Amino acid sequence: MSAELIDGKLIAASIKDELKEKVANLMAQGITPGLAVILVGDNSASQVYVNNKKKACEYIGIKSFSYELPATTKEAELLELIEALNGDQTIHGILVQLPLPKHMDEQKIILKINPTKDVDGFHPQNVGALSIGLEGFVSCTPAGVIQLLKRSHIDIAGKQCVVVGRSNIVGKPVSMLLLREHATVTICHSRTKDLTAVLRQADIIIAAVGIPKFIHGTMLKQGAVVIDVGINRDETGKLCGDVDFESCALQASYITPVPGGVGPMTIAMLMYNCVLAATNQGGII
Ligand code: NAD
Repeated sequence: MSAELIDGKLIAASIKDELKEKVANLMAQGITPGLAVILVGDNSASQVYVNNKKKACEYIGIKSFSYELPATTKEAELLELIEALNGDQTIHGILVQLPLPKHMDEQKIILKINPTKDVDGFHPQNVGALSIGLEGFVSCTPAGVIQLLKRSHIDIAGKQCVVVGRSNIVGKPVSMLLLREHATVTICHSRTKDLTAVLRQADIIIAAVGIPKFIHGTMLKQGAVVIDVGINRDETGKLCGDVDFESCALQASYITPVPGGVGPMTIAMLMYNCVLAATNQGGII
């Protein structure tokens, strides 16, 4: 391996420590940041994510309020709960863990969250704000990718960045963020004709495909920076990314591991958004 490892755990830990200090300052001014976490149904992966979010809140000093609802909950009941949380001054952030059960319309639920409490950054008002350069909440995984690059002192401005994947939660927002950082951005997806030819031009690659070990070292330019957003299981059931780590590490200058790369950053940036929400709503400058 010749690439330098980007340690997401370490970077996420330092962000959480910075936030812990900010929360202590907020508390000194009488504000305790509050995050409402809503989980509908008993999806085991979601349960793990929600528990990790609660643990991070506890560490930083954010008060988390947990709403674990049965899978049979009616959409109208969930909308009512969000309405109540929108009006609750002790709650600064509202997070609805996705995916929701099939009988619920995810877009309708997201639209109900007050955009000033939308710490996941999924509300169309926040998505729109990102695309025209206004203040708003940036969704957590894409924001985490940018922090990994910046805190590893990797220049983004003027670089050829290739994002593989165009989803609403990763591919599109991370592309907007890279553009905001003055990169030249290419977005590839399932209909891209010659992915390897595009990847070979890339200084920075963001992989968000959802296919285990999809990007191989032979597809990279020597010295490329590789950020792997993927969380998959390989044929043996082991956690792996969208990037074939061994072969890519031989070609890349920097690379993120899976686990321990982008994953921990998602939670750190959620905590960042909660503290930002509390600061904004508390009227503190
Ligand atoms: P998605 O399924 O919504 O989107 C996948 C994208 O990959 C699509 O836009 C599709 O066009 C593209 N794609 C599919 N086949 C392709 C091909 N052959 N060539 C090029 N592009 C192709 O997935 P997502 O929600 O964006 O997630 C992507 C990965 O990131 C998944 O592994 C997911 O588990 C992971 N993820 C991780 C975090 C985290 O916190 N680290 C957060 C969100 C998602």
